[in-house]
Amino acid sequence: MYGLIASAALIATASAVTTNYTSTVDPTKISIPSTPQTTSYDVTTECTYYQPPVPINLGDWPTNWKVATTNNMNQTAEFQALYNSIDWTKAPNVQPHTMGADGALSTTGYDVTNDPDCWWTASGCVTPKFPGVLKDISACAEPETWGLTYDDGPNCSHNAFYDFLQQQNLKASMFYIGSNVMNWPYGAQRGVKDGHHIAVHTWSHPMMTTLTNQDVLAELYYATKMIKYVTGLTPLYWRPPLGDVDDRVRWIASQLNLTAIIWNLDTDDWAAGVTVTVQQVQQNYQDFITMGTNGTFTNSGNIVLSHEINNMTMGFAETYIPQIKKAYKNILDVATCMNITHPYVESSVSFPAFSSSNGVSPGASGSSSSGGSSSSSGSAPSSTRSNAALVVAAVFACIAFF
Ligand SMILES: [Zn+2]
Repeated sequence: MYGLIASAALIATASAVTTNYTSTVDPTKISIPSTPQTTSYDVTTECTYYQPPVPINLGDWPTNWKVATTNNMNQTAEFQALYNSIDWTKAPNVQPHTMGADGALSTTGYDVTNDPDCWWTASGCVTPKFPGVLKDISACAEPETWGLTYDDGPNCSHNAFYDFLQQQNLKASMFYIGSNVMNWPYGAQRGVKDGHHIAVHTWSHPMMTTLTNQDVLAELYYATKMIKYVTGLTPLYWRPPLGDVDDRVRWIASQLNLTAIIWNLDTDDWAAGVTVTVQQVQQNYQDFITMGTNGTFTNSGNIVLSHEINNMTMGFAETYIPQIKKAYKNILDVATCMNITHPYVESSVSFPAFSSSNGVSPGASGSSSSGGSSSSSGSAPSSTRSNAALVVAAVFACIAFF
């Protein structure tokens, strides 16, 4: 049902040409060799042996971790054709927002009460006010359902976490950053091979409402293109970094057929030990678990924001997932919980309808769900991973958030 609605909306709004996405990868036949990268849990070993399975010509892509118009990517004939294929006279007349002196988005001068631009950062708005814009998904519609989502991957040092999800027979929606896919394509390939639902999390993780139209388009376009290049799949869903989306950004995403998936519960896991205490994040998880049995989700489900960025965030998942499974009827990726059987442009990979999910998503068909070749003897719990892994992962976390 929801898939049909999404498809109809897609036809009504999409206008941009995205046929420049190419890939030699067949997403139904991904095979990851048993290199130390895929078998080791030592971060130095894992990442030293990381070899891109597809050649990446740096001249063809934006600069890694810089806004996606860098490296003259807004000057290419390809991007110009894309940009000019969009009728910008129909775009909402909304100006980019600015960052305040405190480093946070400034709402000075904005009518937060009426929130005319459906700016999530201002009011949590998820229903666009501008016509012809794809509406956000913010909660699984199915009752007593935990929408499992992880942001900011992939990463060369996350094999243990992916092994854990595999052992738990869980599929998640994975929101991949284009720059990370460029750096660690095996990680993205493993996400697809394991049957997770892969979605876009921009090229360089900016506050999207602060960018120009051209920068917003480039952030979404090149991240989607990189995911296609590396995995053979073109996502139809994306998540704005830190939730920062308004109707201008939604309208541009809609031109690329991209629907935003936001959340209605935030673990704050990435901030543990940074801006909130570890105890607070543990309490958040406990509160959300309690909601599974106290009637909060009798009539609808949730979507929970969590991250795969470092040992701390992955450790929370490993600690609490067994309790979540007990407290909720279903624990599913967003495609499955929303009955979106085709979350990609390509029809070669499809997801099960909710009715056949049986509480946990069977995962995509068309791709092997038997997992990566990293089936070593049991995953290392996060607490036993090396300190080096923690330090390196923490650096990635910093890159992702600051
Ligand atoms: Zn993020």
